[in-house]
Amino acid sequence: MPQQFLVLDTTAFYAGVPYTNTTENLVTTPDVISEVSNERTRSLIAVSKINVLQGSQEHLRKVKAAARMTGDDKDLSPADLSVLALCLSMKEEGNSPILISDDFAVENVASKLGIPARPLMTGGIQRAAEWVFFCPACGKQYSKAREDCLVCGTKLEKRLKRSQAR
Ligand SMILES: [Zn+2]
Repeated sequence: MPQQFLVLDTTAFYAGVPYTNTTENLVTTPDVISEVSNERTRSLIAVSKINVLQGSQEHLRKVKAAARMTGDDKDLSPADLSVLALCLSMKEEGNSPILISDDFAVENVASKLGIPARPLMTGGIQRAAEWVFFCPACGKQYSKAREDCLVCGTKLEKRLKRSQAR
């Protein structure tokens, strides 16, 4: 019997879904774990039965190629790319992965690659508006995605607005 796995991306962790009470097979990647820097989320991972696995390099290359085709490559972090690669690797091993994500760019590339994706189980979460882009150097925030800070030219980073709300 092929096993079904729920593959969690960064947004899945930030949403704080109660993963401790589930009987599902949960997996994520080392890159997601290191991208999730929030203390509460780290303790959530510690008490959950989440397997940490890595997709193959070959699948990572496929994911990057697909992201370039859909034009999402600039919006995907190494963690985003790694969960997509993991999904492909699991599929090839005969498992059925379902990607859990609220990141529109991630879902878009998943659909290009034929990976089933579903939004977070909490439901009703808005998408693009949830991201805040900020300059790690001078602290200026931007509500729209852009490459560099207008003030000092540093490469912007993004985080979820929602992660501060709870
Ligand atoms: Zn700046």
